[in-house]
Amino acid sequence: MASFNETKLLTVAEALQFDNRFTRELPADPNLENHRRQVTGACYSKVQPKQFEAPRLVAYSPEVATLLDLSGRFCASKEFVQTFVGNRLLPGMDPYATCYGGHQFGNWAGQLGDGRAINLGEVINQSGERWALQLKGAGATPYARMADGLAVLRSSIREFLCSEAMHHLGIPTTRALSVVTTGEPVERDMFYDGNPKDEPGAVVCRVAPSFTRFGHFQIFTSRGEIDVLRQLANYTICTDYPHLGVHSATEITEDTYTTWFDEVCRRTARMVVHWQRVGFVHGVMNTDNMSILGLTIDYGPYGWLEDYDPNWTPNTTDAHGRRYRFAHQPQIALWNLVQFARAIYPLVGKAEPLESSLDSYQKCFEQSWQSMMAQKLGFVEYEPTTDDALCKELDAVLQMVETDMTIFYRKLATMEFNDRQTVLDKKWSAHLVEAYYSPEQLTDDYETRLNKWLDDYGKRLQKDDLPTERRRERMNAVNPKYVLRNYLAQLAIDKAEQGDHTMVSELLDLLRRPYDEQPEKEEFAQKRPDWARHRAGCSMLSCSS
Ligand code: AMP
Ligand code: MG
Repeated sequence: MASFNETKLLTVAEALQFDNRFTRELPADPNLENHRRQVTGACYSKVQPKQFEAPRLVAYSPEVATLLDLSGRFCASKEFVQTFVGNRLLPGMDPYATCYGGHQFGNWAGQLGDGRAINLGEVINQSGERWALQLKGAGATPYARMADGLAVLRSSIREFLCSEAMHHLGIPTTRALSVVTTGEPVERDMFYDGNPKDEPGAVVCRVAPSFTRFGHFQIFTSRGEIDVLRQLANYTICTDYPHLGVHSATEITEDTYTTWFDEVCRRTARMVVHWQRVGFVHGVMNTDNMSILGLTIDYGPYGWLEDYDPNWTPNTTDAHGRRYRFAHQPQIALWNLVQFARAIYPLVGKAEPLESSLDSYQKCFEQSWQSMMAQKLGFVEYEPTTDDALCKELDAVLQMVETDMTIFYRKLATMEFNDRQTVLDKKWSAHLVEAYYSPEQLTDDYETRLNKWLDDYGKRLQKDDLPTERRRERMNAVNPKYVLRNYLAQLAIDKAEQGDHTMVSELLDLLRRPYDEQPEKEEFAQKRPDWARHRAGCSMLSCSS
């Protein structure tokens, strides 16, 4: 007779309806051994997750659990922890790691692949949606190269919290179901200075319609494996782009590939516009970290702009060239799309349609950026004749003194511009005081320039003539009050490393409603405290995770 636990497990297994289309339809690596190697002619290798001695739940996302039709009771159970650390496979799970390549920091890096990500399969939920489940940090795979296949708690908490925060900000992203500590130490040299130390290990269960990246296509083209390239592209079009109306590979023509590429360009443009809107810096926009669905993927050394500095990058590995700095993200996305275009070129056979989609990336980016800025500033529509200059000057004013981007836009929404004389006379920096990091920078020069900008801005608002309240609502709907400030994540990590997981849940809860005033949580909307300015994890991060 089945024990209570087994019965419960059965219920869960019934809830999770696996339909593993990726492994069913795409070529597999015939080698079943789990040792590091070059894998050719295949999209994935079967691999078993590592077994961990003492897994413990740190947190889970109730919204993602709901997407998967998982009950709260199951999420609070030991079975949940055992399942999403990878110790227990449910019926229908078929674990595998995928093969991909990529350009890292502008250079072709050859085969990369899921070195520490193990896919469990895809479930179809009760609404008929397909969700792929992937464990990050569940052990080495054939793609692990020189590394251990593991992840540490600090980076797992950062991925878990940020992917959920991004979702609630309305930004396309992979999701995270859970973060579980493994009970086993993982050695990391956080500063690459020859002083490795043991850190708690953890596993995140990521959830997305698909984890396919630009690099998945690049690897086959680089090896001349055009047949596998075609299979993967056809699969992606039929599975991940069902709205293109193609249901079988036989219906696919050269035009289908170009239509598909065009949509990838637009989705990527819209994703990056969102990043620019909220001040998110991905940190490692390598082509292997670019999702084919235009989702934000691979949360590593990302960061949030605190003082508005377009040249800022959180990634210490990139500190020198700053390739992935905030202001450069739109161009890098385009560069990555060019690499992706090269990868699928053999399927299309002509350059013009691909080039025209790359142009449309730029147009789509420009348009989306303009309408995003219009919303941020509370205009009905973007009007280039006036707004180009206003945006340019705002960019300069924000950089004149260290200004917190998030606080600035929320404060801007609270200003009244009805009486022009008051705008000019007022010492507005006093109104913005919470946004400034170094009050001694507020020189007369700055005051004059800020007032001039506010005066121009006020005049521009009068043209639209929106009631103040409407403008405020409009602005607050796109300018978050709460973001995952780098130091907040670090405080939650510090506590979690001591075994106290409460702040992880508290932040998860806070970031569910990032645009709402949450008066009892005001402290989380404050600018970065001074102690965090140079602390690792708060202002700078390495790739070591
Ligand atoms: P990332 O910088 O996290 O996007 O990773 C780049 C590549 O390195 C991917 O192929 C990862 O799977 C791999 N990788 C990163 N960290 C590890 C690790 N600890 N063990 C195995 N592979 C890793
Ligand atoms: Mg990656």
